[in-house]
Amino acid sequence: MSNIDSFSRLCAQLAKLPGIGRKSAQRMAYYLLSQPPEQVEALADAILTARRTVHECRVCGNYTDQDVCSICADERRDGSTICVVRDPRDVAAIERMRDYNGKYHVLHGTISPMEGIGPDDIRIRELLGRLSGVREVILATNPDIEGEATAAYIARLLKPFSDIKVTRIAHGV
Ligand code: ZN
Repeated sequence: MSNIDSFSRLCAQLAKLPGIGRKSAQRMAYYLLSQPPEQVEALADAILTARRTVHECRVCGNYTDQDVCSICADERRDGSTICVVRDPRDVAAIERMRDYNGKYHVLHGTISPMEGIGPDDIRIRELLGRLSGVREVILATNPDIEGEATAAYIARLLKPFSDIKVTRIAHGV
């Protein structure tokens, strides 16, 4: 394979990243080629290691390289409040606002009949399995059609639990 081919291949891979167009991909590729090999190796290693070791927290579904993530393991956080979000990046966004001290539940998706994603395809059953001792569930799925439908679906499921307060906040990342 010639150098040109390797370069095109790198550009094509970078262009697959979200928000990276062909021009940005090319700029990144030129930058990487201008760096010392150790620097590029450190980047490649960080990507591979993260991809191989990071998995879903056994309790909340957030990304972690432990069995249970640092938020679930933190006993100073209020376990009686669960904030339900679509993705791990929603957890990161809410954490950046610093005024939430409860726990999370990551659904890893939203109900979407158009894409054939039903309630059983996201982590709703796992949510129902961790309601003991919970007093409030905050539904913070995205304010789009799927997010609203998912929040409404979960709110209906939680209706029979009369001692749990269900709140809807529109949260978009
Ligand atoms: Zn967790």
